[in-house]
Amino acid sequence: MSSSPQSLNLLGEIAGALASGAVRIVDLTQPLSERTPVLQLPEPFANTPPLSRRDLSRYDDAGPAWAWSVLELGEHTGTHFDAPIHWITGRDGQDVASVPPERLIGPAVVIDKSAEAAADPDYLLTVDDVRAFEAEHGPLPEGGWLLLRTGWDARADDQDAFLNVEDGRSRTPGPDAECARYLAHETAIVGIGVETVGTDAGSAGGFEPPFPVHGYFLGAGKYGVTQLANLAELPPTGSIIIVAPLRLVDGTGSPARVLALVPSTSASPT
Ligand code: MN
Repeated sequence: MSSSPQSLNLLGEIAGALASGAVRIVDLTQPLSERTPVLQLPEPFANTPPLSRRDLSRYDDAGPAWAWSVLELGEHTGTHFDAPIHWITGRDGQDVASVPPERLIGPAVVIDKSAEAAADPDYLLTVDDVRAFEAEHGPLPEGGWLLLRTGWDARADDQDAFLNVEDGRSRTPGPDAECARYLAHETAIVGIGVETVGTDAGSAGGFEPPFPVHGYFLGAGKYGVTQLANLAELPPTGSIIIVAPLRLVDGTGSPARVLALVPSTSASPT
């Protein structure tokens, strides 16, 4: 493979745009700590632990000049990536380590339903919503990621507010079943990103099929990323997302650093 002068020039222009601030990097990752909210499944299902850690040494007798620790956390703790083998529909598909890196960097589009989710925490994204977005902004991009903004990132410091369980029912927004099928099977995107604890709506266990985002996306060899932050800083189109999970062999998912490259001329919070 050889680099054409055009491609060298393009990377140089990107480096220049980053240096000048014409392109900004927005961190879409929630901080990962012992306080990071985690999914709570009802009995009899097993639950993922939150992050915990113990010191191996902290500039002490066990390591006089260094500090380091051991982590325990779920593959699906905090801002994280869902690989196809996470779901039974994708069980013969890719683990995290097998995901081609080309699928982890691509154009991002943001559908903003924060007003709707503020008015109704059970808000469900529909095919009509997506078609209305496409009518205004063009088709969802090949190899792209659809990011669903709901304002839920503002709750991420508080497990109760984040999971929003009322009367044993999790009330959080997400796509409805037909929308999940449409996005996974009829659009060219490779992944969906959300601000909530999972890619499916809180009520999705009762959908037909249950947990349709997981079932359709992972069954189609596509991906999910959850618990995103700062989507308000992204324009509807025109940014690039970088999703960086650990290259975990046999991993069903992985905590991920998720970044976006955003033109600074686009709308930003002021
Ligand atoms: Mn997950």
